[in-house]
Amino acid sequence: MSAFGRFFLPGPTDVRPEILQAMAQPMLPHRGPAFSALHARVVENLQTVFRTTRPVYAVSASATALMEMAIRGAPEGPILSLVNGAFAERFAAVAQACGRRVRRVVVPWGEIHPLGLLERHLAEEPFAALTVVHSETSTGALCDLRAVTELSHRYGVMCLADAVTSVGAGAVETDAWGVDFVLTGSQKALALPPGLGFAVASEAYILQAAVVPGRGRYLDPIEHEEAALRGGPPSTPAIPLFYAADLQLQQIVAEGLEARWARHGEMQRMVEHWVIERQAEGVAITFQAPAGARSPSVSCLSLPPERDAKTVVATVEARGFTIGRGYGQLQDSTIRIGHMGDLRPEHLAPCLDALSDVLRS
Ligand SMILES: *Cc1c(COP(=O)(O)O)cnc(C)c1O
Repeated sequence: MSAFGRFFLPGPTDVRPEILQAMAQPMLPHRGPAFSALHARVVENLQTVFRTTRPVYAVSASATALMEMAIRGAPEGPILSLVNGAFAERFAAVAQACGRRVRRVVVPWGEIHPLGLLERHLAEEPFAALTVVHSETSTGALCDLRAVTELSHRYGVMCLADAVTSVGAGAVETDAWGVDFVLTGSQKALALPPGLGFAVASEAYILQAAVVPGRGRYLDPIEHEEAALRGGPPSTPAIPLFYAADLQLQQIVAEGLEARWARHGEMQRMVEHWVIERQAEGVAITFQAPAGARSPSVSCLSLPPERDAKTVVATVEARGFTIGRGYGQLQDSTIRIGHMGDLRPEHLAPCLDALSDVLRS
């Protein structure tokens, strides 16, 4: 097994050996006191991470399932979807697949929606809810989730946010910003193996969700709210993943959330400096997202026209570092460096050095 710190995929992210080993413990009854205590610790630490006093649902499913949960309990009526990348498009498609009428507001991939554009759409028609991706992992763009939430509330519209690559990596203030639904997955900035999804819903969302028809069962937010209040998951949880989450969340809280955000911010700025240096050397590499709207956890870089992402990624791999190629329509023209989870600046520096060499040759 290779050492930790050479794997820069923007999900799944590198998991420390200690956390992997935590999964290799015997099973225990998920209705017994030991699991209840573990579950309570996981939820309490997730409340710290999500900055909320609401119960956080820890669901044995990937993050996409929680997009579906957000929609299942959303008020009846049309959904406004902000689309600026592959995951934002996925959120819109999930809403449609759940039988909702969806109005997409599309901007070019890499950009974020100007608030004026959002306001024009909100004023046009009474939407029930809005979907938005805080940190769009396919482009590295970070929107102003606080402002989007405020604006949607001004029009009586609930704000449902995918914060998969921002929770644990940068400021996500669930309660203070009043976001109605915030979701993430275990395998991104929380540096856990894939397989768990975490979400929190506002009280206003839960109060109205109880009367929304057709919420299904496994992903019914009311089912998860009630289970959370009882103190356990509604059905058999992925127990090994909970062992890992229990240990990892204790260590995240011990590091301190602000310290974690600062560490991610530092790595994001390292990539910005690195890009400026490459440009000074004549390498035509640029960020896909504009300055001031870049994710703390993933950098999506547009390659010089003569370079192809697949080859660049393979050549960096041959030097011992895994980075991601582009996603969706940006698959061949961009590369993505995930600098999230438990990765540190001292891990990122040699990866960027390897990439510099590859782009020089
Ligand atoms: C990875 C990712 C998802 C999808 O997560 P899954 O766990 O694969 O379902 C959704 N949104 C964003 C922004 C992501 O980065």
